[in-house]
Amino acid sequence: MAATVPFNFLRFPFSTNAANNEEAAAKTAAVNADSGAPTIFDKIINKEIPSSVVYEDEKVLAFRDINPEAPVHVLIIPKFRDGLTELAKAEARHGEILGQLLYAAKIVAEKEGILDGFRVVINSGPAGCQSVYHLHLHVLGGRQMKWPPG
Ligand code: 5GP
Repeated sequence: MAATVPFNFLRFPFSTNAANNEEAAAKTAAVNADSGAPTIFDKIINKEIPSSVVYEDEKVLAFRDINPEAPVHVLIIPKFRDGLTELAKAEARHGEILGQLLYAAKIVAEKEGILDGFRVVINSGPAGCQSVYHLHLHVLGGRQMKWPPG
């Protein structure tokens, strides 16, 4: 008798698994989100582990994502986390750094030659598939983006 193969597996044999892994990683990461513990991004800021820096100023650091989802995939983070583990934790006092991060996204897009079209993403919390609890913007481009996102 022929085995029954789930319809989703036939359509998305790899992306479904990848999406499940992302969700599982996000749920695991969320457990320690409010512990205040350093994240991998602190090590990148402190140059304890290498990264490919695209832009840096006094307040923000932009570096290439280790697992790019597009030809251009740059992460932009505040150098001082100041409670901003995730966008959901933003307070009025964070307004200035949030604006600086968004402006840095434009600078990165310009440097990467994708000003004609790019996407800025912030994943917040487990349902948003956030896996590193140090607020970050993803700048994605260099290919046609699709909508709606997953
Ligand atoms: P999130 O899922 O939290 O929105 O995004 C975290 C991002 O950080 C992921 O896209 C992941 O690939 C990236 N990332 C995780 N660890 C490292 C690392 O050690 N170096 C770099 N450059 N990116 C990382």
